[in-house]
Amino acid sequence: MRVTDAFPLVQSHLSPSTASEPRIQGWCPGALRPMPSGDGLVVRVRPTLGRLTPLQAQGLAGLAQQFTSPVLELTSRANLQLRGVCPDSYPALINGLRGLGLLDEHADVEARRNLLLSPFWTDSDGTPAICEALTLALAAPDAPTLPSKFGFAIDLGPQPLLRAGSADIRLERMGDQVLVYADGANTGACVEPAQAAQTAMELARWFVASGGVVNGRGRMASLLQRQALPAKFTSTPAPKATAQAPTVGPSATGMVVSLEFGQLPAETLHQLAALAPLRVTPWRGLVLEGLHTTPALPELITQPGDARLRVMACTGAPGCTQALGPTRALARFLAPLLPACRTAHVSGCTKGCAHHGATLTLVASDAGYHLIDHGTAQSLPDATGLDAAGIAAYLEQQRLHAPYV
Ligand code: SF4
Repeated sequence: MRVTDAFPLVQSHLSPSTASEPRIQGWCPGALRPMPSGDGLVVRVRPTLGRLTPLQAQGLAGLAQQFTSPVLELTSRANLQLRGVCPDSYPALINGLRGLGLLDEHADVEARRNLLLSPFWTDSDGTPAICEALTLALAAPDAPTLPSKFGFAIDLGPQPLLRAGSADIRLERMGDQVLVYADGANTGACVEPAQAAQTAMELARWFVASGGVVNGRGRMASLLQRQALPAKFTSTPAPKATAQAPTVGPSATGMVVSLEFGQLPAETLHQLAALAPLRVTPWRGLVLEGLHTTPALPELITQPGDARLRVMACTGAPGCTQALGPTRALARFLAPLLPACRTAHVSGCTKGCAHHGATLTLVASDAGYHLIDHGTAQSLPDATGLDAAGIAAYLEQQRLHAPYV
């Protein structure tokens, strides 16, 4: 079947959006609090330090093959997601995850342990100690009740790598010290590494006490629009310079590889587990710790010029109940058509879960795909009612009229 057969709607720029509004869940799935979806339960695993030992990776691959869809997903918060879990298998899956040391004590603790790490952390940069201290503080009986999406980015490399990642409190290196600052602010508190976790918790408590949580939801950047930060967090400007993370290729930590749409077949996970410990990246890839050669596994994206690195797609239909159309077949079709300077995001609805910041966004609606040029899934569309052929024609028109855009 040609790709255009899968998207049978004709191009029409006349119809306004009739797409249903997506339902805002307001929380992320965990392992102890799975989320129902169109293809069963979604179970999200948050490995400590974003790292799987070879034994954990082997075990996780085996559990996926036994109890879930045989393809795991790498998320933009550097977690691993299992889909298609049927409620009858869920208890056995949870027992398996517990045996592998991949579970928290309680669902509340799991939900609060929302730590996004640079996958290039080292034993000496302070990440393991700060992570452990934050984990303990977030599990303590007096821990603040934070919204499910509230998170901490621990980004202690020479230059920050995680600024585009979702987080509410950011910890970055500043010489021998750590800058702790609120997302959305350009100043923070510069403290000794031993005080960093405690200072981050102080900021989290201020967030709750200042009315940052409304109906169980809230993000730091929104609160800062209506509340001034305590003086302690206004003393040191955050550095402007950031680093570009290698999407694939060698790094000091090990070989970085990627997977199309972050889809990791359990069989590939088995094979990778035999090679090295694995670190999950927030860019839907893996760092193969200590490995400096490229494994010859067909599912891996290993070349920086691979067009698949420039397309993102969420689960879409039929896996997500909110999706108004499929996403991945269209993204796969578009990848070779995109000019090298462009990135594309295909979203099953206007929530745009998978990505922010692509230069071309396609959003499924109940009447074809909306096309948004340089915007997000929520932006006003530049064209509506498109099928794959219509989108290809739009790209061709752009190439002819503005070949460098
Ligand atoms: S963006 Fe995609 S995955 Fe997220 S709710 Fe919409 S269809 Fe589902």
